[in-house]
Amino acid sequence: MWGSDNGSVLIAVAPLVEDKRFRAIRDPNVHDAVTRTIAPFRPWLDVLQPTSGVYVMGGLHNTLRRLVVDGAPVATGLAAVGDSVCTTNPTFGRGLALALQGAVDLVAALAESDGLKLALRLDGDVRAHIEPYYRDQARNDSDRLAGLRHNLTGGRPARIQPAEHWTNFAEIRAAMPFDPQVFRAFWRVMNMLCPPEEVYRDAEVVRLTRAALASSNGTTSTPQPERADIEAALGLG
Ligand SMILES: Cc1cc2nc3c(=O)[nH]c(=O)nc-3n(C[C@H](O)[C@H](O)[C@H](O)COP(=O)(O)OP(=O)(O)OC[C@H]3O[C@@H](n4cnc5c(N)ncnc54)[C@H](O)[C@@H]3O)c2cc1C
Repeated sequence: MWGSDNGSVLIAVAPLVEDKRFRAIRDPNVHDAVTRTIAPFRPWLDVLQPTSGVYVMGGLHNTLRRLVVDGAPVATGLAAVGDSVCTTNPTFGRGLALALQGAVDLVAALAESDGLKLALRLDGDVRAHIEPYYRDQARNDSDRLAGLRHNLTGGRPARIQPAEHWTNFAEIRAAMPFDPQVFRAFWRVMNMLCPPEEVYRDAEVVRLTRAALASSNGTTSTPQPERADIEAALGLG
């Protein structure tokens, strides 16, 4: 549930595309029933007025396009920014920041005198300023999808074990409600204030994250619905 402009909120349910049970959610009544299985949302649903139907959105991919391959530009005189360079999971809301970063880099790079140098410099900027967030998001989404698929079909184990001296996005997200320093570290990554790996490798962040996870003992900040409640809301069984 995302707060938006003009006194509105957006509610999105994001199931696995192969989980056909969720197709019923296109019906607004089913959508509301499923959303109501999450306890903190219920009081909001009591007061919110729908302003639209339920829309389906798919085909979301993390993408990165580089215009330099093996050190050589594949096109000169073409300066790409925004979604034409990189798209990331829109639920993390980074598209505009990544596009603005590309625009700022382009303005600075226009001082370069020839097309070859411009292409190489812009590609260096993409590697330094865009690619770390693309890679982190692609890794996070891949782990998250593996977790969802594991829940659905019993495939690959849900949790990818992080390295001893490194934490990762999943861990700091789980730990951040329980420790103020991890909370700040999480938002430094989310708001692109420093490259993700700088936070994940920070020994103090790793220590505090693991301590918070150990003491929270699997508690999540949002109460999770039972599978049976969701299936009932979807009109199954
Ligand atoms: C559902 C959704 C939610 C999102 N939420 C967020 C969010 O909360 N926060 C955030 O930061 N980002 C969000 N994003 C991402 C963000 O919208 C994009 O990253 C951003 O708009 C990219 O800007 P852009 O200028 O590269 O491309 P666009 O905004 O797509 O602009 C490209 C423009 O080019 C035009 N165009 C295309 N082809 C041609 C042509 N042949 N001739 C002329 N014009 C053409 C298009 O009509 C369009 O106006 C979201 C994206 C989606 C899909």
